[in-house]
Amino acid sequence: GIKLDNISKRYGDNTVLDDVSLHVEPGTVTALIGPSGAGKSTFLRCINLLERPDSGTIQVDQHTIEPGKDVNSRDLAALRRTVGMVFQSFNLFPHMSALKNISFPQQKVLGRSKDEADERSMQLLERVGLKEKAHQHPGRCSGGQQQRIAIARALALDPSIMLFDEPTSALDPEVGLEVLAVMRELAADGMTMIVVTHEMQFARDVSDTLVVMADCRIIEQGDPRAIMSDPQEARTRRFLRAVL
Ligand code: ATP
Ligand code: MG
Repeated sequence: GIKLDNISKRYGDNTVLDDVSLHVEPGTVTALIGPSGAGKSTFLRCINLLERPDSGTIQVDQHTIEPGKDVNSRDLAALRRTVGMVFQSFNLFPHMSALKNISFPQQKVLGRSKDEADERSMQLLERVGLKEKAHQHPGRCSGGQQQRIAIARALALDPSIMLFDEPTSALDPEVGLEVLAVMRELAADGMTMIVVTHEMQFARDVSDTLVVMADCRIIEQGDPRAIMSDPQEARTRRFLRAVL
């Protein structure tokens, strides 16, 4: 699981995260929703230190990191390995085949041999339904296929938690469904996940906990159905009216 406590982040005078705490139990799915500019992406990026919070504590598995203080490179590497991330814009290496996109990080980060890495990559390509795309470059794959390759690439490092930042919002609705189906399977297999999403049906059906962010804070969290049918905060009600 993961424990984030009192995470704060400022850009200059602009506070983007104000004392945000979130605990995620192993094997659960947390959906993170809220209006644009609420700080959702920044929060997600703070979890694996793509952004450095100004203060707070991050506890993943047995690692504890206090980003406001010195972070040694060993802790940082361990954190990055433990936490997989999938972005809205895929971020695949354009000059590498799908297979190499998934194998290369395994060799670099985990020191796996090429054969070992390729074997694991093929397993994962099969899992996301794309074995036949192994030797294609991302540019020759659809957006939904590229996103599934990106998910396979993140899974290849055997993370114990996966973060998704609006993984389907750059995709046509129909194509997005392929990606959501892969994510549903991952959830069913017990992967710990935090998913920033505007897909309210996915949030309702798949997540164990719904977290609502607005104005740099978590304003409400709990059972997704309960919050969607009876939000406690006016700001949540206003947001849900706009998206449901
Ligand atoms: P969206 O739903 O539009 O993706 P979000 O909830 O993900 O929104 P963030 O991207 O986390 O919001 O941004 C939160 C706030 O932080 C915004 O006001 C944004 O302008 C600001 N911000 C984000 N990144 C930076 C940066 N690198 N420098 C300065 N301000 C930033
Ligand atoms: Mg965002």
